[in-house]
Amino acid sequence: MRKICIIGTGYVGLVSGAGLADFGNDVVCTDIDQAKIDMLNDGQIPIYEPGLKELVDRCVHTKRLTFSADVETSVHDAEVIFIAVGTPMGDNGEADLRAVEAVATTIAKNMDSYKIICTKSTVPVGTGAHLEALIRAECGDETEFDVVSNPEFLREGSAVKDFLNPDRVVLGVNSERAEKVMKDVYRPLFINETPMVITNLPSSEMIKYASNAFLAVKISFINEVANLADKVGADIHTIARAMGLDGRISSKFLHPGPGYGGSCFPKDTEALVHTGDQHGVQFQVVEAAIKANKSQRNVILGKAKELLPDLNGKVVAVLGLAFKANTDDVRDTPALEIIQGLNEGGAVVRAYDPIASENMKKYFLPDLNTLESVKETVTGADLVIILTEWNELRGLGLEALKQQMKTPNIVDARNILSVDQLKEFGFNYRNVGRSKI
Ligand code: NAD
Repeated sequence: MRKICIIGTGYVGLVSGAGLADFGNDVVCTDIDQAKIDMLNDGQIPIYEPGLKELVDRCVHTKRLTFSADVETSVHDAEVIFIAVGTPMGDNGEADLRAVEAVATTIAKNMDSYKIICTKSTVPVGTGAHLEALIRAECGDETEFDVVSNPEFLREGSAVKDFLNPDRVVLGVNSERAEKVMKDVYRPLFINETPMVITNLPSSEMIKYASNAFLAVKISFINEVANLADKVGADIHTIARAMGLDGRISSKFLHPGPGYGGSCFPKDTEALVHTGDQHGVQFQVVEAAIKANKSQRNVILGKAKELLPDLNGKVVAVLGLAFKANTDDVRDTPALEIIQGLNEGGAVVRAYDPIASENMKKYFLPDLNTLESVKETVTGADLVIILTEWNELRGLGLEALKQQMKTPNIVDARNILSVDQLKEFGFNYRNVGRSKI
């Protein structure tokens, strides 16, 4: 059992902190956001993530997990300090490391015994070395410490499961001492033979970006294949399934839609291109994936305009605001640009999301007309656009929907509705890669 401090109690920090506590460690999750810590100490979970409340409650109950806004004391008491603060996109596509650097400085000022400083935030290659120099300059030559890279691969929406049962754990380490401690931190996974990739810091840092960029490329690729399938009467689901049966390709991330979003792929792809530029390496494939992703939003808008050439004054019901199902995260969600496009066309937009409406209004569209149910949102609508694959939306009753709408126009940007049923009930429909089957 190791004493751990997590700095940054967001989507990654909170899940990781609870997960590491569940593995038997003694964890304190800290954050500069006092309100967030107060909520957690009050038994509330600040984000929507399935299974997280149960995990947190369990670990709080066994006293392995605590929350504190006193970052300094928490650092002082810990042996392993995980940095899990945000690394948003900077002005030129680079990862903005200001929060990471601020945390490293705080850590350096509060070190009086050997500590491991571990980056869990997604940080560009070279950051570990940069932090080591920064901390050394602050705390002098006497203090012993190691910087470790331990990128996180959890997915919002299934974060608890992903953290507790990962496909692999990646550790970038410089010393045997740090390696031993980190193996101990992940001991239950080590024992159950979860693959551990133990490597140097630059490799570990690059693994995270290469993985995310590859997945982003896969999504942009299948979206472009779907766009062609739409024109020629082919079925993207059959195409993707047959492609995925080839073990070299794999069936994952071959689902077309409105393009990737969220707090990772958009910024991580841009950051990788930026890092490449700094080293004279051009990531042409990733650049193309970014470009294709941006235009995929317009492809969806184009489908809306095919059904309603003049959007002016038309009531459009947008179902789904989160960038994917099972999360309240709306960072870089495709819904944002699509709604803006609808507004520009003069449409009267109404929106519904089971969880994410509040965040969309709070962070991006304060004037968005959000409603409490699908029924209220679609009643009298000229067009429905499905943007998130929530289970609730998968189960839409099309017969009732047709009766509630003014005109039965539907853009299913997640391909969650049955084409046979759409035809049966007489909808004018578009989806992604099966609009003509
Ligand atoms: P987040 O915005 O949800 O959480 C970051 C937290 O850090 C916030 O609570 C913020 O208040 C806190 N913070 C900021 N500055 C601080 C400081 N100086 N001291 C203490 N706390 C501070 O971010 P997130 O989605 O959890 O992402 C964190 C990192 O993990 C990013 O680098 C991201 O790329 C990476 N990551 C995210 C995911 C994901 O699905 N969200 C998955 C893998 C990796």
